[in-house]
Amino acid sequence: MKKRLIPYVVIVAILAALFILVIRPAGDAKKVTRTEFLMDTIVESLIYTKDSKLGDEALTYAYREISRLEKFLDRHISGSDVTKINQAAGREQVLVSVDAMEVIIRSLEVGELSGGAFDITIAPLIKLWGFGTGDTQIPGEAELSEALDLVDYRQVQVDREAGTVFLQHAGVELDLGGIAKGFIIDKAVEVLRDKGITSAYFDAGGDIRVLGDKPDGTPWRIGIRHPRDRRDIAAIVEIRDSAIVTSGDYERYFQVNDERYHHIIDPQTGMPARGLISVTVVAADAFTADAYSTAVFVLGLEQGIALVESLPGVEAILITEDEQVHITSGLAIQITEDEQVHITAISKGW
Ligand code: AMP
Ligand code: MG
Repeated sequence: MKKRLIPYVVIVAILAALFILVIRPAGDAKKVTRTEFLMDTIVESLIYTKDSKLGDEALTYAYREISRLEKFLDRHISGSDVTKINQAAGREQVLVSVDAMEVIIRSLEVGELSGGAFDITIAPLIKLWGFGTGDTQIPGEAELSEALDLVDYRQVQVDREAGTVFLQHAGVELDLGGIAKGFIIDKAVEVLRDKGITSAYFDAGGDIRVLGDKPDGTPWRIGIRHPRDRRDIAAIVEIRDSAIVTSGDYERYFQVNDERYHHIIDPQTGMPARGLISVTVVAADAFTADAYSTAVFVLGLEQGIALVESLPGVEAILITEDEQVHITSGLAIQITEDEQVHITAISKGW
């Protein structure tokens, strides 16, 4: 009996050593957090690092990158690249930053792939509805059709070599609101990665990008807000090293006679897109997730799912007006005992 005990003791000792080696480093990771108001929203971040001074410094650089990029991409900031492009519409080419060039080129690609559902020349319609001004209104037919004539992403002429952008007609205007946050948090996370950070969470008002896993090796668990009850969570999604972005009709809207008018506009009709009330996209990067969450919202359930299924590495969670949750084929839903909807990837790395 005594003899047989020895191997067990050895095994326990080896396991204990392994436990210390594998688990302890995670236990050593310190949590460094920061919250700032940028891009018209609350930007929250959290990183795990053994060196909290390095973590703090990395976050400073990441937030600095956000402020830098915001100044190029916001059409409300005078002197931004987007403002300059809009002001020169129909007149001249504008030399822009490499970052603005990158966002515009990538956005036009999404415009093509979504059949124009995603359109960065949406500004005349957004302005007409008054979103972002605090003075919203239902537009009249004549002004709606006038604005609709100006919305067409094919009016954006890009000269990559020269580094210039030109809007072919006066009155055409860019609005990167459907994409800028995603693009910017990708860049912020790249800064963290360059500084040696391997575990991080970045949330810009619901546009989320995570780096690596949590220190204990488990994925990040992200709650998707219930579109009709802000205190409730519609689903929990587990992701690692990727991005998750939600577009919802509850983010910016006004109501007239019980009808909700929100900020995601169908470029075909000039009206708020109907059918879906929340679209969450999971992708490797936040640019993709942000662009397609808006595009899918406009396309609606069937066409939206078809588009996502055609894109490798992209999945979506769609909530319809009747509050039903739909998922694309690379995801699995599990309802836990406490009736929580749990969504995990089945076919993708994340
Ligand atoms: P998101 O919350 O990412 O879906 O972005 C919504 C924002 O995108 C709006 O506030 C507008 O600035 C812009 N937007 C609205 N409709 C569209 C559209 N069809 N294509 C591209 N951008 C849009
Ligand atoms: Mg978006």
